[in-house]
Amino acid sequence: MNASLRIVCSGTSYRTNAPPLNAPVRPELASELERALECFARGAGFGPQERVLVTFGPGVVGHHQNGRAADIYEVAGVGLHRWFDQWLRHLGEASCADPITRQNLIRRACRQNLGWRLYKTLQTLGRWARPPGYPVQLFGPWTRLEGPLRAISDRLLRAHFDHIHIAK
Ligand SMILES: [Zn+2]
Repeated sequence: MNASLRIVCSGTSYRTNAPPLNAPVRPELASELERALECFARGAGFGPQERVLVTFGPGVVGHHQNGRAADIYEVAGVGLHRWFDQWLRHLGEASCADPITRQNLIRRACRQNLGWRLYKTLQTLGRWARPPGYPVQLFGPWTRLEGPLRAISDRLLRAHFDHIHIAK
């Protein structure tokens, strides 16, 4: 293994799981993630007294082999696919309400959903790889609905139904 690789460390407001699931990555990816995770956790109301757990999981192909990519599978002990299902359900419930109530319900569905919050923070704050001819390397269950690659293929979307993939 490349000696310069390191795991994504815990911060003030979040903590990460241990290796081997939190696999060592390049330092520039680790520090970019640490910056974004701290912003996410603080924004969601966590702090030193209660740090939110962010769980990395095994990545298999491509960029993972040289430490350029990481996969996040859980936030606060809940799988990303379950956060996504909950988000869809709350949005579905909101669609039955009158316009003003609907806006409030949608805002609340997003604000309370740690999976959605994490994805949006990574999308807004993270400077991820964008290889020539390829889209920004941020994929997850929200990609088709929230971007950045709204034209994501069914295959790629299915491959990321339960985790967020980031590369740098
Ligand atoms: Zn991945």
